[in-house]
Amino acid sequence: MKKIKRVLVANRGEIALRAIRTIKEMGKEVVAVYSTADKDAEYLKYADLAICIGGVKSNESYLNIPSIMAAADISGCDAVFPGYGFLSENQNFVEICKYHGIAFIGPSVELMAMMSDKSQAKEVMKKAGVPVVPGSEGAIDSLDEAKKVAKEIGYPVIVKASAGGGGRGMRIVESEEEMENAFLAAGSEALNAFGDGTLYMEKYIKSPRHIEVQVLADSFGNAVHLGERDCSLQRRHQKLIEESPATVLLPKTREKLLKTAVKATKAIGYENAGTFEFLLDSDQNFYFMEMNTRLQVEHCVSEMVSGIDIIEWMIKIAEGEKLFSQDEVKLNGHAIECRITAEDPKKFVPSPGKITKWITPGGRNVRVDSHVYCNYVVSPHYDSMIGKLIVWESDRKRAISKMKEALSEFVIEGIKSSVDFHKEMMENVDFIENNYDTNYLN
Ligand code: ADP
Repeated sequence: MKKIKRVLVANRGEIALRAIRTIKEMGKEVVAVYSTADKDAEYLKYADLAICIGGVKSNESYLNIPSIMAAADISGCDAVFPGYGFLSENQNFVEICKYHGIAFIGPSVELMAMMSDKSQAKEVMKKAGVPVVPGSEGAIDSLDEAKKVAKEIGYPVIVKASAGGGGRGMRIVESEEEMENAFLAAGSEALNAFGDGTLYMEKYIKSPRHIEVQVLADSFGNAVHLGERDCSLQRRHQKLIEESPATVLLPKTREKLLKTAVKATKAIGYENAGTFEFLLDSDQNFYFMEMNTRLQVEHCVSEMVSGIDIIEWMIKIAEGEKLFSQDEVKLNGHAIECRITAEDPKKFVPSPGKITKWITPGGRNVRVDSHVYCNYVVSPHYDSMIGKLIVWESDRKRAISKMKEALSEFVIEGIKSSVDFHKEMMENVDFIENNYDTNYLN
């Protein structure tokens, strides 16, 4: 077992601060990196060292592998924590870390590669006995094949990009007449967005809920789940509110879902933290959609119900420590997370600029994960998320009340934010009664 001494956090914003906190609590040293746009960020002062890695544009800094590796080398880091986005699922980066003798806190490049192609990942999961959304076996090469496969699985279908992400390269097809246009449009959109136009096809699940399972696995073949998350409140396939547990699940379905995820984790020999994403149909059938081989934005709700620090365990697993057992995981109460974005709540367009007033809520079981403060300038160059508000209570109803109260204390001036949108959702009857699906806001 090799103890990690000094970790470079290859990310920015709230997740960089989130990681810095845990790394310091563990008694380790931490090196932060920043672009010229982030040079004044207060969280950089919490690190033992902060190194500028380049310009404002992501490919000059947070995606600039040579620059990040140079920062890790000169500062004597023995590990890199990737967070989400940026280089967190970049196989090239994982390999380069290895050549430099620096531990990448996450899965191996082989595991990452196995899950990165979504149609291939589905085949792997099918072999591991996981129910997958009915669809094509692997990629679809021609329009004729697309029509043939769609006939077999039955309309409506959804054509998706193998290299997809963020809801791009996706088309719902209701009938054979629509196939030609949809197939060509999805293909060119995928090629433009991901440099890979490969498509696959799935049955379109009507009124689905997005339910995902957080897993942890060590290098000894042990794997546990930390319960499930419901991430069904989405806009354009982007998550806005997440909770744990998913109270739409019947107890029997939940048990089967969690068991399936742990079984699949072991079957593929997964190591470190990961998330299995499923779609749940209105008859409580669940289907594997994809696996994320990194920490997710919404990991906090799982931390609140399990009491486990996921980043701490990602680091311990990378050090070769043995995982706790499933029996030791006690899931309690209900947690909700609202993503706070610098956006116009009506139009959902970014609202960068200087924050002139910033008062965050507090009190019992209220958690604010944010790198922002009064006079902070929100850059137009990065993701518009400026923080996350997470609350915990004994059940969903009380958690909603707590979230309502917390949101009423949240003051953000100078820019527009999603706080008002979340306030509305906490009063929304369909949300309160848990009666919605992933298309609700569309
Ligand atoms: P991405 O990686 O681009 O986010 P996903 O495969 O995770 O794409 O799907 C994102 C969202 O798109 C899902 O949460 C769901 O709302 C919708 N979706 C994807 N596949 C299907 C399907 N077969 N049927 C219905 N909705 C789907």
